[in-house]
Amino acid sequence: MIRFAVLSLILSLPALTALAADPATLASGPVTGAVIVTHGGVGSPPDWSNDCQDAATVGAAALSTAIDGACAATVHLEDLCRFNAGTGANVRLDGTTVQMDASVMTSAGDFAAVAALERVTNPILVARAVLATPHRMLAGEGATRFAHALGFPDVVPHCDDSLRKGRDRIAKLLAGEAGGGYDTFDWRAVWNYPGPPPTTDDGAPGVPSSPERMEPVDTVGAVARAVDGTFAAALSTGGTSITLYGRVGDVPIYGCGCYAGPAGAVACTGFGEEIIRHAMARLVYDRMAAGDTAREAVIAGCEVFGEEWSLGLIAVGPVDWAVAANRDMAWGQAAP
Ligand code: ASP
Repeated sequence: MIRFAVLSLILSLPALTALAADPATLASGPVTGAVIVTHGGVGSPPDWSNDCQDAATVGAAALSTAIDGACAATVHLEDLCRFNAGTGANVRLDGTTVQMDASVMTSAGDFAAVAALERVTNPILVARAVLATPHRMLAGEGATRFAHALGFPDVVPHCDDSLRKGRDRIAKLLAGEAGGGYDTFDWRAVWNYPGPPPTTDDGAPGVPSSPERMEPVDTVGAVARAVDGTFAAALSTGGTSITLYGRVGDVPIYGCGCYAGPAGAVACTGFGEEIIRHAMARLVYDRMAAGDTAREAVIAGCEVFGEEWSLGLIAVGPVDWAVAANRDMAWGQAAP
């Protein structure tokens, strides 16, 4: 009897090791030269992949350097209303504020970022411009003024889609139907927006705490390998919408939202606070630097994160490119 039990345990071991199921979204392919991979944010519907594919094609045409390709693809996605970046960036908890984060990194180790940037439509280009300064990151009003000093138009990136999504989100929150990225939090207690909180239908002021989470979605990113074997990553987001004024996620934090080095490039999307806790982009990069393929590395990233929080990853290394997410995710891939 005992022998039978031990035997069945041994026989079941391969099944147990296979238990870690593939991520909900998983794709990969070989790298034979220059290549670019894009994402439309974890949670974005797979049928938005046509936009990510177009962005990858635009990026591939600009791949004279890896950072040119990654930024061109990201600009393409920032210019579309449906994604949570640039023109379509999330409207925050007061119903009007838009604050955005973006970052770029190259395999030479050059990193630059903007955080809580306002009144610009292409944050990725502002992040790239920070590369030419003595700094690594500009934040808040300083970042916004820097962008305007460079000639970026002073525009609040509102579009019909993002305003409607913002209104719906706040209505649900006020009705107690959906929460804001943290399990339960009384936003009124620490309200820090310039204007007052939205009001409930009966006129009672305030934004109630609520029991559920609302997942961030639709942020955008790209990773690229140029024909000379160098890599770059670019990432841009309107962040999560149900937040305090000034909330900054993983995207502009070094080693968290994106990372690049001689072993490849990685870009993340998902629940920023959790991505920061794992320094996720660096974690995935380190796997590639230790010899994992991009596919193995993104799967490992998803396994570390678990299912509770949303996570999407794109990566490119010397031998392959890969996409993985623990939810649906639109993505694209192209070579020049
Ligand atoms: N990671 C982004 C943030 O937390 C959001 C996203 O990827 O959708 O700001």
